[in-house]
Amino acid sequence: MRNEEIAIKLEKKGVKATVNRILVYKIMAQENRPMSLSDLELALVSMDKSSIFRVLTLFVEHDVVHAFEDGRGVLHYDLCGSEGVCNFADRHVHFYCESCQKSFCLEDIPVPDMQLPEGFSGHSVSFVVKGECENCRKKNHHC
Ligand SMILES: [Zn+2]
Ligand SMILES: [Zn+2]
Ligand SMILES: [Zn+2]
Repeated sequence: MRNEEIAIKLEKKGVKATVNRILVYKIMAQENRPMSLSDLELALVSMDKSSIFRVLTLFVEHDVVHAFEDGRGVLHYDLCGSEGVCNFADRHVHFYCESCQKSFCLEDIPVPDMQLPEGFSGHSVSFVVKGECENCRKKNHHC
């Protein structure tokens, strides 16, 4: 993805495009699966952990990314699939591999529609299935 395209995406979310923000977005788009802070730290050697964290915090506030917890207390960050205002339609199930500790977007599996009690308004939802990914199954079971 070109920097100009990323800058437009960020601005549509109400985030001013800076060099660091574009860099974080670009890495996440390249990786094409949710990343944790330590994944990003490994991928972005030119940025220190606290700068990456500041960008992620801002991204979460503006729905540029959605965060979900993997069950060990580690957050994984997933780029929002909606342009501009997040319309809740891009939510999908995530899979967390307990073996390689990677997470994956299961974009074809939507999160079930839940009828919230009156007066409650949902903003985000996370639905994480845990188990073993395809690669690890092949490695661990030789099948
Ligand atoms: Zn979204
Ligand atoms: Zn795995
Ligand atoms: Zn996802």
